[in-house]
Amino acid sequence: MKVIEAKIVVLGSQGVGKTSLVVRYIGKMFSKHISPTIGASFFTCNINLENARVKLQVWDTAGQERFRSMAPMYYRNANAALLVFDITSVNSFQAIKGWVKELQSNVPEAMVLSVVGNKSDLQQLRAVQAAEAAHFAESIGAHYVETSALHEPGIDQVFLSTASALLQLSPSLPSLRSYDSEAEDRVPAGMPTEEDATHTGKVELPAWSIDSIAHGQVQKSCC
Ligand code: GDP
Ligand code: MG
Repeated sequence: MKVIEAKIVVLGSQGVGKTSLVVRYIGKMFSKHISPTIGASFFTCNINLENARVKLQVWDTAGQERFRSMAPMYYRNANAALLVFDITSVNSFQAIKGWVKELQSNVPEAMVLSVVGNKSDLQQLRAVQAAEAAHFAESIGAHYVETSALHEPGIDQVFLSTASALLQLSPSLPSLRSYDSEAEDRVPAGMPTEEDATHTGKVELPAWSIDSIAHGQVQKSCC
């Protein structure tokens, strides 16, 4: 069976629901809690497709919203990105356009991009139309999916479509680890497997880097 290993980063403004999405996706399967902290948390999960397995290392970027200049260390070497905005916030939608520009100028290799409109449960407060977001996604070659971290729809689809796009792109992504493994167990497509979920990790940044980067930045308190 073909196995590919890829790194995916979750980007977007503070409060759009990045951590909630990640926790919901992984928590549903594995009941693992990822505590928000300054630094980054990642977990790995296996996504089983037809005749292939995609091992995704998912990086949540807690704190990166405030310490923006740290962002490159999260998305460096990433093969895919989820660009998350809140459908009730025009600013958060504008912000993902900035992220796309930043990725385009700093990540040399092709990436699988997905635009994610989260908080789809808050339809009455919608400020970004689905058609507009879908149009933008198309313009950057990305999928558009609306999700609700609260009620779950869409979340599986985000990770599944990212995994299958990575599989399709894998021949043209030199840094992607890809191999054939007889040892990998066959499981039905779409079924997650638990084995690798224990490989969660948290990377704490040294205090000096936070001090030096935070200096002079205006922080907006949230929620
Ligand atoms: P992050 O800063 O992007 O990681 O955002 P969080 O995951 O911490 O979520 C910020 C706030 O939005 C929290 O109060 C969440 O409960 C809330 N939230 C996240 N996703 C949803 C959603 O899909 N619907 C609603 N109504 N609230 C959400
Ligand atoms: Mg967070």
